[in-house]
Amino acid sequence: MYDYLVVGSGLYGAVFAHEAKKAGKSVLVIDKRANIAGNVYTETIEKIHVHKYGAHIFHTNSKKAWDYVNEFAVFNRFTNSPVANYKGELFSLPFNMYTFNKMWGVVTPEEAAARIEEQRREITGEPRNLEEQAISLVGRDIYEKLIKGYTEKQWGRDCKELPAFIIKRLPVRLTFDNNYFNALYQGIPVGGYTKMVENMLEGIEVRLNTDYLKNKEELDKLADKVVYTGPIDAYFDFSLGTLEYRSVRFENETLDKPNFQGNAAVNYTDRETPWTRIIEHKWFEFGRDDEGNDIPKTIISREYSSEWKPGDEPYYPVNDEKNGKLYEEYKALAEKEEKVIFGGRLGEYKYYDMDAVILSALDKCEEILK
Ligand code: FAD
Ligand code: UDP
Repeated sequence: MYDYLVVGSGLYGAVFAHEAKKAGKSVLVIDKRANIAGNVYTETIEKIHVHKYGAHIFHTNSKKAWDYVNEFAVFNRFTNSPVANYKGELFSLPFNMYTFNKMWGVVTPEEAAARIEEQRREITGEPRNLEEQAISLVGRDIYEKLIKGYTEKQWGRDCKELPAFIIKRLPVRLTFDNNYFNALYQGIPVGGYTKMVENMLEGIEVRLNTDYLKNKEELDKLADKVVYTGPIDAYFDFSLGTLEYRSVRFENETLDKPNFQGNAAVNYTDRETPWTRIIEHKWFEFGRDDEGNDIPKTIISREYSSEWKPGDEPYYPVNDEKNGKLYEEYKALAEKEEKVIFGGRLGEYKYYDMDAVILSALDKCEEILK
């Protein structure tokens, strides 16, 4: 008999299991996949750590989260600086002086500010949708070349029908700073995320290819308490309906050359290119393998945004009113399950970044592991 059965070996499950073991509890971790690490799973192919479920860049303002992950991995100095490709023209992201210089030929911050000011005048009053918000942030030229097509591909809807807040978090800088995130700490674990999660799970029994919901009765008998990090609606057999997700599809390709695009991420911001971006995984670790040698091949992933349907891999929770309401109903059911703790991105139906999911698991541990 274990103290805890942890369902899911993603970051939430791994952090919980690690802390429970440290507190002297016995723990069994299961996962329905053939591998640990959930969506941060990296698979090593051609000595490249391939981010199988999408590019993951660790970034945080929390010293607690940063110190925590550094217990399990050495982080490199990777800084996310995506490049935008609009019909073969390249621009720096996020929007900064390099972008404005390329777009308009302006040289000083004053000139750039004046251009933006001139173009944002067409929007009067509070922006009512993403298009108006974007134009009022950076003007029409940047909206047309770097925002409109990308956003419509990503969300499958017209920019006039999307809420303004989606774009509000994108930085606009009158400096030459290509760092995409405004975070104090940023990096990629050397050797890949899978190794970091392996270190979290050291000394803990893990059973893969084990679906909790298909063997619930049996598995429940093995432990006093269950920590469930799978989809909350699946736990209740979708009895109140299905929560929706946004999905992404990846097409991976190994190329027999050392360098495809010279950067980890290139966004294709025109409407015609069917993919939203291409990730070239080796550049998360500066093109070198774990021994520090240059890697002769490269692996790229084309990323396509797609409508989610039941049965697809759930990626991003859709935090609209309809789904929020349904989640609240499931949450009320979850609170009645005394033996079960629901946690993580799927268990709480919440868009968590990695640092947030780690902090949330640590909070839970502080609350219940005495
Ligand atoms: P998951 O990693 O999804 O783990 C849940 C686990 O439970 C899975 O392994 C699953 O197989 C298992 N499971 C589910 N049901 C069952 C069952 N019935 N039986 C057994 N096992 C089950 N965050 C960042 O900070 N930076 C980024 O750059 C970033 N990029 C992202 C890109 C994409 C495309 C996506 C989708 C997310 C990104 N995130 C990023 C968020 C990050 O992936 C999450 O914060 C984190 O992975 C959540 O961990 P989790 O443990 O809650 O969930
Ligand atoms: N965005 C854009 N062009 C880009 C990058 C982002 O228009 O090259 C917009 C787009 O609407 C996207 C939003 O900014 O949904 C937020 O981008 P971010 O990269 O933060 O979101 P993610 O891709 O991680 O969902």
